[in-house]
Amino acid sequence: MKVARFVVDQKTLLGVVDEATNVIHPLDDHLSNMTDLIRFSVSGFTFDAKGRPGISLSEVKLLAPIVPDRNIFCVGKNYFEHAKEFAGSGFEAGAVKGKEIDPYPAIFSKPPSTVVGPGAVVEMHPEATQAVDYEAELAVIIGQSGRNIPESEALRHVWGYTIVNDVTARDRQRNHKQWLAGKALDTFCPMGPWIVTADEVDGSNLDIECTVNGELRQKANTNDLIFEIPQLIAAISAGLTLRPGDVIATGTPAGVGIGFTPPRFLVSGDRVEITISGIGSLSNSFA
Ligand code: MG
Repeated sequence: MKVARFVVDQKTLLGVVDEATNVIHPLDDHLSNMTDLIRFSVSGFTFDAKGRPGISLSEVKLLAPIVPDRNIFCVGKNYFEHAKEFAGSGFEAGAVKGKEIDPYPAIFSKPPSTVVGPGAVVEMHPEATQAVDYEAELAVIIGQSGRNIPESEALRHVWGYTIVNDVTARDRQRNHKQWLAGKALDTFCPMGPWIVTADEVDGSNLDIECTVNGELRQKANTNDLIFEIPQLIAAISAGLTLRPGDVIATGTPAGVGIGFTPPRFLVSGDRVEITISGIGSLSNSFA
């Protein structure tokens, strides 16, 4: 099931998308918070939109499917070729040649204020950065809460998957050592277009592509992840209770702007589109 959050007639609703007919079927009229829906869902409530009249997707405005209650958990350097391009770019503080791959995943976060929806404009923040870059990523949405989740149980805690663009100010990422300052700028986390429930996709084998103004920049498969989704959930939930609606961005493959010599940073007017098989496409312009 593809579950979206959208606005129609100035009302925010949740709905189930039927891509075959380009129609969205609204769920309950009073349900607009995806985290609430996920909580209901993991406690056994089944939802379906059958019988409710559909609305053409062209008549609604899609929003980010979820704005999490707390920071998005993110993973850095989780594809081998990207770890190499990042370490060699000069933008990784403390990079050591030959030690591009770490024995533990790099984990950082982005605040909920970074989240914007499909089609939203990402702000370039020229007063704060001159080096805005894109990162196409598969994101995991947590369902059942848990702490100290073993890898063998981890996928039971996954409610669904979506797409994020982990937009990054490379100069701030480098200058401030820790990554938060380069990752947390307002609008720096486009997300969507919807959440696909975990029963419909295998997160360990999804094609991921990113284009800038139609030019292919990133192309990979999530089977190339260095730390796979169960390992990430085990690592992040160690001593930290993951809750329904938490979001984990799993890292980006090679082909980001700093992978080029000289770097190809985004400029005002650029459009970045990320496509993940089985999920859909997330497109945003930058200005
Ligand atoms: Mg990233």
